[in-house]
Amino acid sequence: MARYVFITGGVVSSLGKGLASAALGALLQARGFSVRLRKLDPYLNVDPGTMSPFEHGEVFVTDDGAETDLDLGHYERFTGVSARKTDSISSGRIYTNVLEKERRGEYLGKTIQVIPHVTNEIKDWISVGDDEVDFMLCEIGGTVGDIEGLPFFEAIRQFAQDRPRGQVIFMHLTLLPYLAASGELKTKPTQHSVKELRSIGLQPDVLVCRSEQPIPDKERAKIALFCNVRPDAVIPAYDLKSIYEAPLAYHRVGLDQAVLDAFGISPAPKPDMSRWEDVMDRLDNAEGEVRVAIVGKYVQLEDAYKSIAEALTHGGMANRVRVKAEWIDAEIFEHEDPAPYLENYHAILVPGGFGERGTEGKIRAAQFAREKGVPYLGICLGMQMAVIEAARNLAGVKDAGSEEFDHEAGKKRFTPVVYHLKEWVQGNHRVERKVTDDKGGTMRLGAYSAALKEGSKVAEVYGSTDIEERHRHRYEVDIKYREPLESCGLTFSGMSPDGRLPEIVEHKGHPWFIGVQFHPELKSKPFAPHPLFAGFIKAALEQSRLV
Ligand code: GLN
Repeated sequence: MARYVFITGGVVSSLGKGLASAALGALLQARGFSVRLRKLDPYLNVDPGTMSPFEHGEVFVTDDGAETDLDLGHYERFTGVSARKTDSISSGRIYTNVLEKERRGEYLGKTIQVIPHVTNEIKDWISVGDDEVDFMLCEIGGTVGDIEGLPFFEAIRQFAQDRPRGQVIFMHLTLLPYLAASGELKTKPTQHSVKELRSIGLQPDVLVCRSEQPIPDKERAKIALFCNVRPDAVIPAYDLKSIYEAPLAYHRVGLDQAVLDAFGISPAPKPDMSRWEDVMDRLDNAEGEVRVAIVGKYVQLEDAYKSIAEALTHGGMANRVRVKAEWIDAEIFEHEDPAPYLENYHAILVPGGFGERGTEGKIRAAQFAREKGVPYLGICLGMQMAVIEAARNLAGVKDAGSEEFDHEAGKKRFTPVVYHLKEWVQGNHRVERKVTDDKGGTMRLGAYSAALKEGSKVAEVYGSTDIEERHRHRYEVDIKYREPLESCGLTFSGMSPDGRLPEIVEHKGHPWFIGVQFHPELKSKPFAPHPLFAGFIKAALEQSRLV
């Protein structure tokens, strides 16, 4: 049976709960324990799949095809443990399950209530897979006191009672604001936040206090006294220059020790921090810089492409070079020549996206990269745009486009080189989709394998011809354009195992031009940079030496 750490937040949102949870996971691993991280989100969406990236940041897709919160990306990047569908739980999902059970008559005519029916459902989800790991870390989204969060707080309170003593602890993150006028750190908001937590029956065992200023021992002791927490379990959390410093930084201030103490695990196994020391060494001792242009749509909110930004950093770490990524709104290139913008970069990345807006600009960015020999990585929509560019400008399909844009506009304007796929094979079974399926259910989602062409650039990059990557898209490049495009130099170097779905394209004779139908960024880790990102940054480095 796993030990559980429930992580909650108070005072304000955006304190870095996800990062603290992920770093704690990494620290427990460094001490030889196995972990799984889980996110409980109080919002009513069934999953984040239909939420706008502008509002909610990136949708993180798991191997088993769940569309989850971007915090699960942090969890994977810090622990290397692949998240599953069951690691992302929202109120919407819980209520849907409860209501479906009610309709099926499973509650035997009882009145359905938040306690016990909703809380039991939450507890069932929390318990999934608890015989597989030493520690289960569950982060509760939002802050204590939120109305929506109450069933989750109540469920974790009950959960701790249901388990044997000493199997469950609570870790709470708060903020110590600094008042410049009086030169003081204020502990009152933290005291109130803990009071709020205790009023619903939860006593934190570990308090993580975010602060921009060093926390004096006197203040630490005061927080411990007023919040009923041991002084060495009051953990300061200061701003970091890189998120990847978090495991080492939290270790220095004793977070892992405080957690193990709270469980009474003594003596604590010695930690091996070499993985994180190497990560920091690569970040701190990088030489030089490459500049990468990301030509996309959701450029105002960096979180919308969180995993891409991180994977680029990892690619830099693999090559011991700093990566400066800059976001360019693709729409600019619809009425302006891309050259004056893009000439300043050593590589161009066109990320995934939905809808027509900005796509003509992305096509022009792909054309620029192809013609000028600048390294190009096209991800999902970025691959589709590279194919459309080649179809229009090399294969003579002047009105090549994607069915997605015609569907959106409600009229036919393009020859669909990229079309809506409604049935495909996953593993050994067939998947079918109807246009009338609800929004959440019409995509090719999750891990699919691909067979790479021997001798291709991409096979060299991966060092293998057999790969598995995560997908999230509705449209596919039409295989009937393979021959005309290959005869113009765009090789289809990766295909689905049944040979029907193009997975990877690359331009022959170009130094580095690769488009992939999947999302490699989702699998990149700081301690294991994804080969496509490592290869892309290596190509950018070579480009930087040319110009
Ligand atoms: N909109 C495209 C599709 O659905 C690409 C999706 C993406 O880039 N994730 O196929």
